[in-house]
Amino acid sequence: MRYFAVTHAASFQRFYRGFLRLLFLLEPLWRVMGQRRTQRLLLAVEKPSKSLLFDCRMCGACILGQTGMSCPMNCPKNIRNGPCGGVRANGHCEVRPDMRCVWVEAWRGSRNLRETNAILTLQPAYDQRLKGRSSWFADLERRRQERAAP
Ligand code: SF4
Repeated sequence: MRYFAVTHAASFQRFYRGFLRLLFLLEPLWRVMGQRRTQRLLLAVEKPSKSLLFDCRMCGACILGQTGMSCPMNCPKNIRNGPCGGVRANGHCEVRPDMRCVWVEAWRGSRNLRETNAILTLQPAYDQRLKGRSSWFADLERRRQERAAP
């Protein structure tokens, strides 16, 4: 399924943008529900749907929009600025020869996105404390902070 998501990266990105707009529109509901319940609800939907579509590992800091819908956390080395240099000539992973390198796939998917250079963005070191958290909730929070900023 994850290869399908990469092939159709642009459609998934469009869908997510629309979905985010809906999340923002529902802000009054989130306010009534409170942070904890909102987070729990988003997590309950995000986890199964993204694990089905992207083999998501719930890192809590999603960068699918920059990696052409190829989840970097599926890299056996968990590299978020890839590839590592050990990619085989056939585009497979050096650690798991049966698997296509997630970064080869990321490059393929990124060619389908509108911002083709987004994949070149240098990612910060991964913060392990985010593991298991909802990226959707993080996007919601980010948007709130942007709105509150003068
Ligand atoms: S980058 Fe993180 S949140 Fe996004 S699909 Fe991969 S593990 Fe899940």
